[in-house]
Order: sequence, then structure tokens, then C-alpha cells
Amino acid sequence: MKIIPVQVVCFFSGFHLIVRTARLANSFSAKAGTWYKQRTIEKESTVSDSKRKRVIIVGGGFGGLQAAKVLRHIDVDVLLIDRRNFHLFQPLLYQVATGGLSPANIAAPIRGILRRQRNASVVLGEVVGVDPTAKTVEVHSAEPGEVKPHIERLHFDWLIVAAGATHSYFGHNEWAAIAPGLKTIEDATEIRGRVFSAFEAAEYETDTQRRSDLLTFVIIGGGPTGVELAGAIAELARKTLRNDFRNINPRDARIVIVDGQSRVLSNFDEVLSKKAEVSLHKLGVELQPNTVVSAIHPDSVELKSGDLATRIRTRTVLWAAGVGAVPLGRKLAEATGVEVDRGGRVLVQPNLSISGYPEIFVIGDLANCSHQTGKPLPGVAQVAMQQGKFVGRLISNQIRGKSSESSFRYHDKGSLATIGRSAAVADVGKMKFSGFLAWMLWLLVHIMSIAQFQNRVLVLLQWAWNYVTFNRSARLITESPHLKKSVAIQAEANKAN
Ligand SMILES: Cc1cc2nc3c(=O)[nH]c(=O)nc-3n(C[C@H](O)[C@H](O)[C@H](O)COP(=O)(O)OP(=O)(O)OC[C@H]3O[C@@H](n4cnc5c(N)ncnc54)[C@H](O)[C@@H]3O)c2cc1C
Repeated sequence: MKIIPVQVVCFFSGFHLIVRTARLANSFSAKAGTWYKQRTIEKESTVSDSKRKRVIIVGGGFGGLQAAKVLRHIDVDVLLIDRRNFHLFQPLLYQVATGGLSPANIAAPIRGILRRQRNASVVLGEVVGVDPTAKTVEVHSAEPGEVKPHIERLHFDWLIVAAGATHSYFGHNEWAAIAPGLKTIEDATEIRGRVFSAFEAAEYETDTQRRSDLLTFVIIGGGPTGVELAGAIAELARKTLRNDFRNINPRDARIVIVDGQSRVLSNFDEVLSKKAEVSLHKLGVELQPNTVVSAIHPDSVELKSGDLATRIRTRTVLWAAGVGAVPLGRKLAEATGVEVDRGGRVLVQPNLSISGYPEIFVIGDLANCSHQTGKPLPGVAQVAMQQGKFVGRLISNQIRGKSSESSFRYHDKGSLATIGRSAAVADVGKMKFSGFLAWMLWLLVHIMSIAQFQNRVLVLLQWAWNYVTFNRSARLITESPHLKKSVAIQAEANKAN
């Protein structure tokens, strides 16, 4: 009798359980939705016609959405402004970047998420300024065909700024065109285009050195994003693409992680870092710890480790190193006189408001909140969500005339990172474990955190399929202005060689 490996049994029984729970939840939510709709056939509040007080939330990410949801039963208008019409589940961007998932699998329309919340409206636009005295935000939005943005000033009684973070190239913004970071859907499709284009170009490259350059992928930064990207590219090369080409062997691909720290996942327990390094070695990923980047060129990266300078020839460099606040942070600081840190994050009070303006709050990746430990809280989804809840409750209590806790406290529920298929590390309180069990936990947490039910099921099915077949079906090279620019840069590099 053939014995089925325990991992397969665990995976499928877990899968079965999740699908059954999801089905039950779906039928319950459909019934509840119909009942709710029948009871609430009322006009949605609009941007301008209400006499109620108004909370403006800038950003429909993890923090902003939580704040909006907490305010759902409160007698107040909630206006959520975002420059995108969707909420993005950033932790799975690396899967889009490596063809495992499609962009729509990890994004959910903000209007859809808030459609049953009668006191909430959504505005698609970019907040470019705040007037704290007049209590207004300046919003730019462009209608189709409009050259100049439409400008509107919207009044708030309370303002929650949850506009998130962007890449930081540590003062070398010129590297951005050559080494894209991973923060938006566009970044993910850009990286996907570059990775798959490199294999395509290598297939028809006759020069051995250039072919090897094309098959070298350098990832700057050994945090969770860098590790997850490297693991996924290694799996692509060693498994998914292994029979797809005729002139190259994708398994020859070289994948390197460069990091200034002495170990990858330096925010995790040291034992887990070591386990992650073992998993990366098994996938054939090279690690260059204690190494910093000194220059990035279209055909190479220059590195420094102590006094030793080295160079790796490559056509694909991916940036997973620095994160900085979005520009709105500095604009808010200029308007209010509040301080920002070196990364542009706004320094907040223990209750997450800014100094001198008790009705303006900054939360999530944009906030430097350091009263709890003396150091800023990490830029992770849990911090943003808990802060969103805290501020939502604080405003609710003010409206109801109740008192609130005076100071936000972050409850760390732990950290997870995955290293390719069936391997992950979990740092959950006193429990530190790795391997298949950690990967199952990673899978469950990510599935349950994705914003819309439909996406949960789609992602789960896609993963189950990928798991069984090693396939990654979203391996599309789509055109993007950045990709065109990068192709032009690469062509110049080819001429020079
Ligand atoms: C690749 C990647 C992987 C990650 N993995 C993990 C993980 O595994 N676990 C984890 O906990 N965290 C992870 N994070 C971090 C996590 O995603 C962030 O901490 C979290 O998204 C922060 O939430 P936020 O609400 O502050 O900002 P965001 O979720 O970034 O939302 C900000 C929103 O504001 C909008 N916005 C920005 N500027 C403006 C403006 N001027 N006007 C209008 N709208 C604006 C944006 O469009 C966006 O919708 C990851 C991040 C990345 C990039």
C-alpha cells in the first residue's frame, strides 16, 4: 500500500476545512446581506449634503479601513479619500510579481468593502494638502479626458491620515529606474515583466557572459519581502520553468540576496533567521550578509563588505530594502509645525493625534509612534489596523461623550515569513517554529486577512493548484512605461558591452 505523506494529508484536510468554513460563511453572509438590504433601503450619504459632523480618512489601506469600520454605527459622516479605488493586500504582492497570483486576487474595490456602511462615502482623489486652521483637506481628482486636476477643499471635524509608505533609496533616487521596489500593483507587474523578460532574453542570447548576466537576479534587502521574492524566483527557475525553454536551463539562474545586516529576517528570532537561511540555501539562493550597495548600473551592482568592494553582473536588480513615508507626511508637518523623523514619518502623541491638533490623527506606516518602547512601532499591517481601531473608538467616544484610553498600546500577535513552497518561519509570542506547520499558519493567516470573501476563495484555489502542479499561471509580461524605459537602458548597456 502506498503511504500518503503526512504533509499532503494535512494540506488537503486543512484545505477541505477552509473551503467548508468559507462556504458556510458565504451562505450566512448572503442571507444576512439580503436581510440587511431590505431593512436599509435608504439613500447613501453624499459628500456635501449632510449636516452631521464629518470624519475624513485619507487612505483606504489597512489602517484607514479599520477606522472607517469602527465608526459604522456612529452618528457621523465618514468620508474616505484614496487615490486608488481599491484596497491592496500588500503582503501578497510578491506573488503577483512572480506570476503566482493575478493583481485582482489581492485587491478589493473600496466602494465594495464599504457598500453596506450607510454613513460612509468614498472619494477617488489625491490629498495634496491640509489646512489645519480652516480644517480642510485639498483633494485633486482627474476626470477622464481632463488635463488639469479638479481641485476640491473638503471640510473635516476630525481627520485621520493613513496614507502609508513608499520606497526609500537612501538618497539615491536614480536607482529607482533600474531597481524597482515592491509597493504597488504597478510595481508588482513591472517586476513580473522584468523577471520573465530576463528568461525570454536569455533564451535567444548567444553570448555566454550576457546570458549568465540575464539569468542573475539580485535582491537588495533580506527582510520578509526580499526573502519571499528570492524564494519565489528560485522556485520559478528550479521548478515552474524547468521544461519551458529550449536553449537555456532556467535552473542555472543565480539568485542573490544582499543585506547590510549579519542575517536575513533580522527582526525575527536568531534561530528562525538561521532556519530561513537553510531553506534559502536548499532553494539555491546565495546570501551576501554584511554587504551594502554602493552603486547600481543597468548591467551590474557594486557592493561593499567592510573594505572589500565587489561587483555582480546582472540585468535584474530588485529593491526590497528601504521604506519611507509618503510626501503627504511632510506636507502635514509643514502645515502644522509637527516634527517628522528622517524617513518622513510624522511624530505622533500617545493617543496618535499630532501635537497642538487633537482632532488630527496620523496612523499606520506614516506615523512614528514611539511612546510604548522608545522606538517607532514597526511598519506592519497589525500596527496600522490596531491604530485604526483605536482612533475610530476614540472619535466614537468623543461623539458619545464617553472617555477613552489616553494612550495607544500595540499588541504584537507575532510575525510570519514564507520561503517558497511548504517552508516558513513563525515568531508568535513564546512559540517559535518553522517548516510545514509554520507555512500552514502563514497560509491560513493570509487567506483570512484578504479583504473580500471572493478573493479568499480564488486565492485558496489558485494556491492549491500551484501547490499540486508547481504551476504559476499569471506569468504575463505586460507593457509598462517603466518596462519600456528599462528595455531602453538595457539596450544601451548591450551596446556598451
Ligand atoms: C511587499 C510588502 C509586503 C508586506 N508584507 C507584510 C506582511 O507580511 N505582514 C505585515 O503585517 N505587513 C506587511 N507589509 C506592511 C503592510 O502592508 C503595511 O504596514 C500596511 O499596509 C500599512 O497600512 P497603512 O494603512 O498605514 O497604509 P497602506 O495600507 O499602504 O494604505 C495607504 C493608502 O493610502 C493611499 N494614499 C497614499 N497617499 C495618498 C494621498 N495623498 N491621497 C489619497 N490617498 C493616498 C494609498 O493609495 C493606500 O491605499 C508589507 C508591505 C509590503 C510593501
